[in-house]
Amino acid sequence: MALTTAGVAACGKCRYFDQASTESHGASLGLCRYNPPISQPTQDSHGVWPKVEASDWCGHYERAEA
Ligand code: SF4
Repeated sequence: MALTTAGVAACGKCRYFDQASTESHGASLGLCRYNPPISQPTQDSHGVWPKVEASDWCGHYERAEA
């Protein structure tokens, strides 16, 4: 069964894609802000947001406002 989002969804077009936080890492990389940070390696470190490529996608995709 084909996924309905395949070929349509892309992190780069998603409302949860935060490219501004990763601009120094290249134009195609961003953070996914759909969920809270997923881990905190040590007590004093920051939580980790998933890094995704603009061409990635997942089932939570929602088209960003134009
Ligand atoms: S991983 Fe999913 S929710 Fe996150 S930016 Fe990509 S498509 Fe959107």
